Amino acid sequence: MTGSNRNLLVLPGDGIGPEVMNEVRKVIAWMGRKRAVGFDIKEDVVGGAALDKHGAPIVGATVDAAMEADAVLFGSVGGPKWDSFPFEKKPERGLLRLRKEMDLFANLRPAKVFDALVDASTLKPEIVKGLDIMIIRELTSGVYFGEPRGITTLAGGEREAIDTQRYTEGEIRRVCAVAFDLALKRKNKVCSAEKANVMHTGVLWREVATQLHKEHYSDVELTHMYADALAMQLLRSPRQFDVIVTDNLFGDILSDEASMLTGSLGMLPSASLGAPDATGRRKALYEPIHGSAPDIAGKGLANPLAEMLSYAMMLRYSFDLDGEADLVERAVENVLTAGYRTADLLAGVADDKTAAARGLKKVGTQEMGDAIVKELDRLV
Ligand code: NAD
Repeated sequence: MTGSNRNLLVLPGDGIGPEVMNEVRKVIAWMGRKRAVGFDIKEDVVGGAALDKHGAPIVGATVDAAMEADAVLFGSVGGPKWDSFPFEKKPERGLLRLRKEMDLFANLRPAKVFDALVDASTLKPEIVKGLDIMIIRELTSGVYFGEPRGITTLAGGEREAIDTQRYTEGEIRRVCAVAFDLALKRKNKVCSAEKANVMHTGVLWREVATQLHKEHYSDVELTHMYADALAMQLLRSPRQFDVIVTDNLFGDILSDEASMLTGSLGMLPSASLGAPDATGRRKALYEPIHGSAPDIAGKGLANPLAEMLSYAMMLRYSFDLDGEADLVERAVENVLTAGYRTADLLAGVADDKTAAARGLKKVGTQEMGDAIVKELDRLV
């Protein structure tokens, strides 16, 4: 792919979204200048910004642009200004509609502990040092979508609630294939998690994962674990894992657990991928896992590294630019090692004096972005 046919849709959104996206733009410009990695960039509004402009959290033209783009880089949506809006007009509906229409069924959440931040984890450094795992959550099926669902009143007047866990073989196979493909680019290990001991969907999940492995991925090491046991193992010895694949409900819980092993919300990227088309291109959306952080929006305090690392994931998974993705990740690692910290990364440090004594430099959003660009210059 050349610069002119890499199509990127940028949706900064609300709150700190536009602020952190501005810092990523610096790196995008740097990649164009120094590595000839260019993009045809379209930019649009989503969430509260779209409500302000169009009266809807996303409009059809934006969805169309997302469907046509090779990748969508997303900021965050929401904020107090739109909290009282009716359900269908909530800013988050914009993101949910994108996920649905793009059929983004595989949600990738890496949990990586940077050496410089090893103390930010609530677990002991010797447990999490060097941790680098990837959780893949099935995102478009399972108990959050299965029918029947709802709350009804029984004959005697008592109410009953029903949610249905439902998976087809195809839905399981496609998300497990993403896991195996990713493992081939990593440490070659997949752990598939379900509850085959008590759930029929778990039995089918295990059968399909095993069959797919046998047919196409026998070079990858596959293990199975009950999701509750995996929740314990993630805290006991998380480094035993490489890629973990699981359903929507277990993935929701396990990916939050895994991401918190790393300590900070401002550092965590994610990717959501769809099915490959005839050319092998997958629809894809990249976003930090944090929200729009209205409490710090507009103050220049936001940590831009989660958005920066989401951009690195985009380089790797949508454009096969592994070298450039490595560069961005190395720049983030080095800048942290050099002591640069946005306020969120200094949560456990008493005051500026203590930080300085430990060789830590408190910086704002823009300074962090500039430090990354400077480090990229030094690295090449
Ligand atoms: P949040 O992630 O926005 O903020 C939680 C806390 O973490 C806040 O104290 C915030 O200041 C801090 N924080 C988050 N990101 C940070 C960063 N990059 N740098 C430094 N500090 C950071 O979650 P919330 O407060 O529950 O939600 C705020 C708004 O964001 C709500 O409207 C919510 O609906 C929305 N939200 C959107 C998304 C999304 O767009 N995908 C995800 C979660 C929440």
